[in-house]
Amino acid sequence: MAQIKLSGLRHSYRPDPQGEADYALKKIDLTWEDGGAYALLGPSGCGKSTLLNIISGLLVPSEGKILFNDQDVTSLAPAKRNIAQVFQFPVIYDTMTVYDNLAFPLRNRGRDEDVVERRVTAIAEMLEVTEMLKTRASNLSPDNKQKISMGRGLVREDVNVVMFDEPLTVIDPHLKWKLRSKLKELHQRVRATMIYVTHDQTEALTFADQVVVMQDGEVVQIGTPVELFERPAHTFVGHFIGSPGMNVLPCEMKDGAAFFGGERVVLEGPAEVGGAAEIGIRPEFVSLSSNGTGIAARVRKVADIGRHKVVEAIVHDTRVHAILEGEAPNAGDAVRLDFKPSQTRLYKDGWLTSRPGEGTR
Ligand code: ADP
Ligand code: MG
Repeated sequence: MAQIKLSGLRHSYRPDPQGEADYALKKIDLTWEDGGAYALLGPSGCGKSTLLNIISGLLVPSEGKILFNDQDVTSLAPAKRNIAQVFQFPVIYDTMTVYDNLAFPLRNRGRDEDVVERRVTAIAEMLEVTEMLKTRASNLSPDNKQKISMGRGLVREDVNVVMFDEPLTVIDPHLKWKLRSKLKELHQRVRATMIYVTHDQTEALTFADQVVVMQDGEVVQIGTPVELFERPAHTFVGHFIGSPGMNVLPCEMKDGAAFFGGERVVLEGPAEVGGAAEIGIRPEFVSLSSNGTGIAARVRKVADIGRHKVVEAIVHDTRVHAILEGEAPNAGDAVRLDFKPSQTRLYKDGWLTSRPGEGTR
């Protein structure tokens, strides 16, 4: 196992990149600690697969270095990197049995048959495919093929990192949930470094201890699920994570105070910027005022989603979501909104600029 460091990485698929827009990865400096459970989260096309393929050696980056335990592997062939990669679609040998498929990565490295048997049996048990071991892979359902594909990634105990590239895409929704928790359990058992790539926040947040959020070829934040929820470093993270995501509201800064829709809004703490900026507040921290204070709004929609209600309110032309427990207003009602000051952040050009402290008044 190893610590993996990416230093000054850039990658363009074009032979003669002209500007920033020609780079699939713009500039990446990132360290994956040994034994970590990481998720790489971002929308389709942001560069996740490109990054994985650079780590595994399937792609050589245009610029920068890849270090495994401080050893430069940038020009090392994939087979020499000691990595297991699981792809979006199953990669298995149809003519072989499930057992032989799982055994393949071990036999390929000349492991003794008793080691092969022990590992294959253990992995098959973890993935609950023991009864399929003698089945020919061609007879498996797509779900089971992908499970075996994942098993092939997990069967070796000597890999530097196991990387999963959106592995649950082809999996049936109810099994998805099961496999996701299974993977988390597997990580706790085998303690290998794992990088799990997904565009699905639920998958990322349930699997990972650390989530790396990417947008448009760049890493915008690395943090625990709680950190990403509580202090998004960028409005993109605030919006991408959460359901609904963080409210991002245009505001005007005057003498250190924020004005939204003409009303003064108390921030979590100091923010030394002037002019146009954005307030970030999660729907969980927006409530209805009962004492006549707060920002005047009109309710447009109320969605009852079981445990709570999601209220969509309009302040001038801006939409504000609130998540409410219990009593909720009706569509068309005039209401006043309160923002919890300790959770009201300020963003300038997308980046978090307010600091925790005494709220500005
Ligand atoms: P993700 O995995 O996050 O969906 P990718 O890494 O696949 O994103 O793609 C990042 C960007 O690079 C996208 O704009 C995509 O169109 C482009 N890209 C990916 N693979 C290739 C390729 N083989 N040739 C040219 N462009 C590519
Ligand atoms: Mg991809």
